[in-house]
Amino acid sequence: MAQILDGKRVRDAILAESVPRVKRVMDRGRPPGLAVVLVGNDPGSEIYVRNKVKACADLGIYSEKLTPAEAITTDELVALIDGLNRRPEIDGILVQMPLPKPVDSRRVLLAIDPDKDVDGFHPMNVGNLVANRPAPRACTPAGIMELLERYQIPVTGRNAVVVGRSDIVGKPMALMLLHHSATVTICHSKTRDLAAVCAGADILVAAMGRPALVKAEYIRPGATVIDVGMNRISDRAQAEAIFGRLPERLAVFERTGSLLVGDVDPVAMAERAGAYTPVPGGVGPLTIAMLMKNAIDAAERHLGVR
Ligand code: NDP
Repeated sequence: MAQILDGKRVRDAILAESVPRVKRVMDRGRPPGLAVVLVGNDPGSEIYVRNKVKACADLGIYSEKLTPAEAITTDELVALIDGLNRRPEIDGILVQMPLPKPVDSRRVLLAIDPDKDVDGFHPMNVGNLVANRPAPRACTPAGIMELLERYQIPVTGRNAVVVGRSDIVGKPMALMLLHHSATVTICHSKTRDLAAVCAGADILVAAMGRPALVKAEYIRPGATVIDVGMNRISDRAQAEAIFGRLPERLAVFERTGSLLVGDVDPVAMAERAGAYTPVPGGVGPLTIAMLMKNAIDAAERHLGVR
């Protein structure tokens, strides 16, 4: 039987460890402070931001939600971030992506003080990651490293294949695995014979945004499979093709008209992997926990808490 890597359990452990850290920060006179900037009314982004604000409230982290209108210009957004950079009680600044098309996302990310960059997306922190220097790390791959560590999945010397090369998941994931001495291969949409490359992985990380693309032949029997994909499908034929052997999931589809599916075929993953993260309940819960950790790290730095 494959081991299920339970992201909620690891999230709860990370959050529990955060409680005394928040208290130590509070002892210096104020809570950690996180500003969350949400531009426009994208429903998906609104849910993400609501969850982040709630996680802050649960831990006693001060959060401030700023909701500029969709029509905000790059200059105005940069000025808003500049203001947050100058406020000492704000330790971390998060700009929810994606931004509206006309806004220059790169300029916005560059405007965030690297020391307040709780997403780890600022080029200076990307450089710190490349150089393996301490700095805020991208939350999703950092959460995956926590998961591997807490489940004592060996990384050193293992073949790790990361499918996806985005700045927020694939690239930082590959670098973190490399710094833990895995032998890392990065795949993308131009990779030839993806199945054969993946089949060589001891640790396979799928981060493409392609529902159930990774099938049985991609998975070496006994491999650890980390499914980062979060794809909502609402097509019945697709749902039946993927979840035909999982009646309890199909029942959810009947009830709600949609289903969340990862990038890995869930049946093949459960049958072939030695250990795997389910969708939902695997990687998803870790991201916000690591965001909280980054915000507390920043507050500790700013207040000199050791
Ligand atoms: P992006 O769209 O930014 O990147 C997707 C990557 O996958 C690209 O590098 C692309 O290659 C590659 N790719 C796409 N199709 C294929 C294919 N057929 N074969 C091989 N490679 C392919 O996505 P993100 O990295 O932002 O997100 C990936 C997934 O992870 C999404 O489902 C997203 O929802 C999920 N996610 C989940 C999070 C969580 O907390 N669980 C957090 C962040 C993301 P190329 O570069 O050549 O185009």
